[in-house]
Parts: sequence; structure tokens; C-alpha cells
Amino acid sequence: MRLSRFFLPILKENPKEAEIVSHRLMLRAGMIRQEAAGIYAWLPLGFRVLKKIEQIVREEQDRAGALELLMPTLQLADLWRESGRYDAYGPEMLRIADRHKRELLYGPTNEEMITEIFRAYVKSYKNLPLNLYHIQWKFRDEQRPRFGVMRGREFLMKDAYSFDLNEAAARVAYNKMFVAYLRTFARMGLKAIPMRAETGPIGGDLSHEFIVLAETGESGVFINRDVLDLPVPGADVDYEGDLTPIIKQWTSVYAATEDVHDAARFEQEVPADKRVNTRGIEVGQIFYFGTKYSDAMKALVAGPDGVDVPIHGGSYGVGVSRLLGAIIEACHDDAGIKWPEAVAPFRVSILNLKQGDAAVDAACEKLYAELTAKGVDVLYDDTDQRAGAKFAAADLIGIPWQIMIGPKGLADGKVEIKRRSDGSRETMSPADAVARLV
Ligand code: ATP
Ligand code: MG
Ligand code: MG
Ligand code: MG
Repeated sequence: MRLSRFFLPILKENPKEAEIVSHRLMLRAGMIRQEAAGIYAWLPLGFRVLKKIEQIVREEQDRAGALELLMPTLQLADLWRESGRYDAYGPEMLRIADRHKRELLYGPTNEEMITEIFRAYVKSYKNLPLNLYHIQWKFRDEQRPRFGVMRGREFLMKDAYSFDLNEAAARVAYNKMFVAYLRTFARMGLKAIPMRAETGPIGGDLSHEFIVLAETGESGVFINRDVLDLPVPGADVDYEGDLTPIIKQWTSVYAATEDVHDAARFEQEVPADKRVNTRGIEVGQIFYFGTKYSDAMKALVAGPDGVDVPIHGGSYGVGVSRLLGAIIEACHDDAGIKWPEAVAPFRVSILNLKQGDAAVDAACEKLYAELTAKGVDVLYDDTDQRAGAKFAAADLIGIPWQIMIGPKGLADGKVEIKRRSDGSRETMSPADAVARLV
């Protein structure tokens, strides 16, 4: 991509409305545009990152055996009356009427709809286990939308729903999602810690929130520092095998949100020098809720003995759009964003430090063509900005690798490569730069 052809509306000034760094940087880097309170348009740079994050979430859901579908954003109020949540949900639910005065709502979550789909088709335990997910926009009319995409009203969520014959099987499904979440967040360069959590309006008795530590987070958390060093399962993890040793390892080290924190246990279990009380961002939550929805909505399957029983369910959410904010909170410096490679909007940027100089232009074009041909996502800054402005923009938008090409270096046959994450620089020939970055 040539920057001269791209749509990257960088802001010079710090937007006043942004209270936290991720919101400020997303606005300044031209990633999002607020259209109404808590409702954002995703501009090209932000959209590229959103898609990358979405794809990692998808790959890890698929790997764990979940199946993707897509449910609509609008739902019938009557469906929610079946579970009793239409009245219980309260003002966070956006209620809409169509021209026939039929009551609709913009879905804040999809337990009811997926249960309706399930019960229409699945009648036997032989079709279980089943885990269906989608990645779809949600609406919650948050009392206080703030911090940009971190607490939006319209936001992108991955939500998966598992269906099993009994509690033991449902816990197997729960464990698969637990492991998939460990992998998902680690692939994005995040340390997201599973913490015991309250189940809230979803209901049920077993739940973990996945939380990224950050001072600007909205949840208070208490952890044993050791949890930060636990190993994340590799891509070869066997989802059909026994996952309980992994779950045990992660859940036996103290980590809890303030809602369920047990101060006495914390002090008893965790040595003083390992106690951490800080804040964090909830990037995902998993629930086992048993027969809450299947009882109310009659989602029954015939068991091996031919008797109909309500299925045991779980639901598993990831805040896909919130993750952009969480990643930036974790990966930035005073100059801007430092994208982890896996989610970066482009992997490499080429900075032409003397646009219009025939030799420099030619070297940049050649490098741009070679890297692009090798499948590298490159943003080529071919604008006529000064070098200083190009450096600042590149640091702000946080592309992991910058290749700087100017007349001086080029006279010696050299370009400079800067790694955004640690600022380290190296000088090498353009050919070596290509070899390094493919
Ligand atoms: P919160 O405690 O932040 O209000 P929640 O517990 O209400 O979140 P869940 O119902 O667990 O949210 O939804 C699953 C995930 O969706 C959350 O873990 C979070 O990452 C994301 N999410 C929830 N609300 C929002 C929002 N308003 N804006 C962006 N992401 C959100
Ligand atoms: Mg909420
Ligand atoms: Mg919550
Ligand atoms: Mg939650």
C-alpha cells in the first residue's frame, strides 16, 4: 500500500475527549471515528487490525472444534420473553419496533437465539457435543460508554455456545474454550489471565474472566505473580485429549476479580512478595450455566435411554473490538503504538526520506515491489512530508518494522531498519533487508 493512496487521517493534536492512551492513539492514528456516543466507524487502518484480531479468534475457535455461523443483529422480543430476560435485561437493551409494530431488539448477546436454532434441529444426544459461534456486532446501551472501543455501545464480539448431554460433558466443552482463550490472547501478544468470576445476568455457577493487566482497566484484580509465568499450550494441544491438567495448573494459582476476591484465602495462599493487587481489562469471559436456557426454552435431546433431557450449556465471549484498546494499552510508548506482529495493520513500513530524489525513489520502489511480491504487507510512505514527520507518523501508527531509505545511506548501498518494539536499529543492504523481513 502506498501511503499517498491510503486513507490515514492522522491527528496532530491530542483529542480532548480521550481519557486513556489507547483511545487517544486510536483517534490520532486515524483508526476510528466516533459517529455517536460509543458508536464508531472503523477507518482503514483500524479495520485492518480488527480483521487480524478477528481472524486469530476464529482460527483458535476452529482449532478447538467450534463451528462458525452468523446470526443476525436484530432479534425478536418474544424470543427473549421465553427465557424471561426481555424484562430482566433492563435499559442496556436497545429495543426497536418495526413498521408493523413488532418488537425487536438489537442483540446484546445470543443465548436465546442459538438455543432456538439448536432446538429446531437437534433431537438426539448422538449429535452432541456441539459448539457454535459467531463473530457479530452487539449493542448494549451502556450507561457510560467511554475509553473509545473499550466500552462502546456497538461492539464486535465473538460468542460461542456449547451444547452437551450432561454436566461432565459440558465441563469438557468449557475446558476446550478455556484453553482456546489462553492461546487466542497469547497469539496477540497479550498476557490475559483467567480469573474466577461472578456469573452475572448470564447465570450459572462456573465462570472465568480473561483479564489483561492495565492500570486503566475497569476491574480490580488480585493475583499471585506466578500466574504471569505459566506456560500457554502450543498449537499442537490435543483438544480431544484430557485438558484438565492445563486447567488445574492455571486455576490453582490465585487470580480473582474484586467481586469474588477472598482476602483471607489470598493472604493464606500467596506469599507476601507475590501478592499483586492491580487493575485489568476484561477481554473475554466463559460461563457454564447448566440447563438455565434449555429448561426455559425446552431445548431437549433424547439421551441413550430414549428419555428427553434438557441440554447443559455454556457461553464464551471475546471482546474483539475491545481487544484493540487492550493491546494498545499493553503495547505503546510516548511516540505511539507498538503493534505485536500478529495483529499489526502492516508488517513493514518503508520511509522514503527524500521523496523526489531519483536514486532514493528508485531504491524505495524496488524494495516495495520485492517485499510485496514476497507477500509482505508493506506500507510505503511515498508522501512528500519531511523525514521528521514520516518518522513521527511511523512511530505513531506502530508498524513493527521501519525501513528508512535516504540519500546518504544509499550512497554506501545501505538502508536502515528500525524495530518499533525496542527501537533497535541496524544498517544493511536492501537485499539483506528483504531477506530479513520475508
Ligand atoms: P463489562 O464487565 O466490561 O461490562 P461484560 O461482563 O458485561 O463486560 P460479557 O457479557 O462477558 O461482558 O461479554 C463478553 C465480552 O465482550 C467481554 O468480556 C468484553 O470483552 C466484551 N464487551 C462487553 N461489553 C463491551 C462493551 N460495551 N464494549 C466493548 N466490548 C465489550
Ligand atoms: Mg457489561
Ligand atoms: Mg464483566
Ligand atoms: Mg463478562
